[in-house]
Amino acid sequence: MATPKIVYYGADWCADCHMAKTYFARHELSYEAHDIDHEPGAKEAMLAITGGSSAIPTIIIGDVIMQEPTAAQLDKALELKPSLEQSNIQDVIMVGAGPTALAAAIYTTREDIDTVLYEKGVIGGLAATTDWVDNYPGFPDGISGLDLAENLRKQAERFGAKIELGEVLDIAHEDGLVKLSTTDGDRYAKAVLIATGSDYKRMGIPGEDTYYARGVHYCATCDGAFYRDKKIVVVGGGNSAVQEALFLTRFASHIDLLVRSELRASEVLIHQLEKNDKITVHLGVTTDEIIGDGAKVEKVVCTRAATGKKVDFVTDGVFVFIGLKPNTGFLRQTEIEFDEIGFIKTNEKLETAIKGVFAAGDVRSGATMQIASAVGEGATAALRIREYLQHS
Ligand code: NDP
Repeated sequence: MATPKIVYYGADWCADCHMAKTYFARHELSYEAHDIDHEPGAKEAMLAITGGSSAIPTIIIGDVIMQEPTAAQLDKALELKPSLEQSNIQDVIMVGAGPTALAAAIYTTREDIDTVLYEKGVIGGLAATTDWVDNYPGFPDGISGLDLAENLRKQAERFGAKIELGEVLDIAHEDGLVKLSTTDGDRYAKAVLIATGSDYKRMGIPGEDTYYARGVHYCATCDGAFYRDKKIVVVGGGNSAVQEALFLTRFASHIDLLVRSELRASEVLIHQLEKNDKITVHLGVTTDEIIGDGAKVEKVVCTRAATGKKVDFVTDGVFVFIGLKPNTGFLRQTEIEFDEIGFIKTNEKLETAIKGVFAAGDVRSGATMQIASAVGEGATAALRIREYLQHS
């Protein structure tokens, strides 16, 4: 079958766009590329196609329009056959290709342990969507999240790590091996590392789903540039909300930061917040509903906790940063044990309740949600896996 025409709209600063380009390169697919940031009229053309939905990458394959598609969705639209050899037994399969798995893969592949990383979203994980990382050791001036992720990927691939794009659906122990059911069929490995990390939580209020990508966003580096000279609201009071609000001041004319109780960000970030005259902080404000005209967001309806009075914030967009939830949905039917919030429980060797299955990084119960810790845990997991492989 001839490949249908592929049209891509994206931008340099968007991690999902890099994922899409990697996908096209790996499948040797040519496509018509439009940069919504630098090409005059490209953003408007994209919004006309998507009916005003401002999420990138927007990819049009034949007459199918997709925004932020996963590799599996692209496979489906292109009717591509599974790319993996299904009979292959790997030494290690890592689920996820964020900093934890990439660091672990640097260690395993350097010792000639055959390693495949299986990623359904962005290579580099949440770190790749972080604008600027100031506290990762070894970079005295800081480094962009995308560059850090790219460096980790290159280093892992230099030693022979293979990164595959696809989704793991289930994991089980079978005949001394770990069986992974994936969108590309069943795979087998002697050991598995779950390093799927966490994703941003949603508020679960009326209007949030309706206006997703039409004014409601969870990634500042991905979608912030759509709000040049516009008024926006940021929800949350932790490190993420404050850091992302500061980043969004590059674009927005004004930001209302809505904090449910009190600020929980670090002193350094609170100090930067106090110095920034584009951000107004509202403490003790709960968000109740997002209202729009059907196509775009118009206001957020809130309640002031102290008085119980309703208050509206008129806005062009809402960015939500209210904490993280672990990416463990695919493990719900397994024997793996979780803590009360849903993070994976491990022993001190990072082993889960399934033999041969390890977990590390932001998905693990007790994780500190720092990139440096994630990388450290990745290295520890690799050493534990090596030990396990030697004795199994
Ligand atoms: P946090 O859990 O630290 O903070 C969550 C914030 O969201 C709190 O202010 C909380 O309010 C608020 N919140 C929760 N649910 C709702 C809701 N339904 N409506 C409105 N507000 C709500 O999450 P973060 O994402 O900020 O950070 C996650 C982790 O990542 C932390 O460990 C953090 O330190 C780390 N991190 C570190 C960074 C760095 O080192 N530079 C940068 C970014 C993140 P309340 O207090 O009322 O519960």
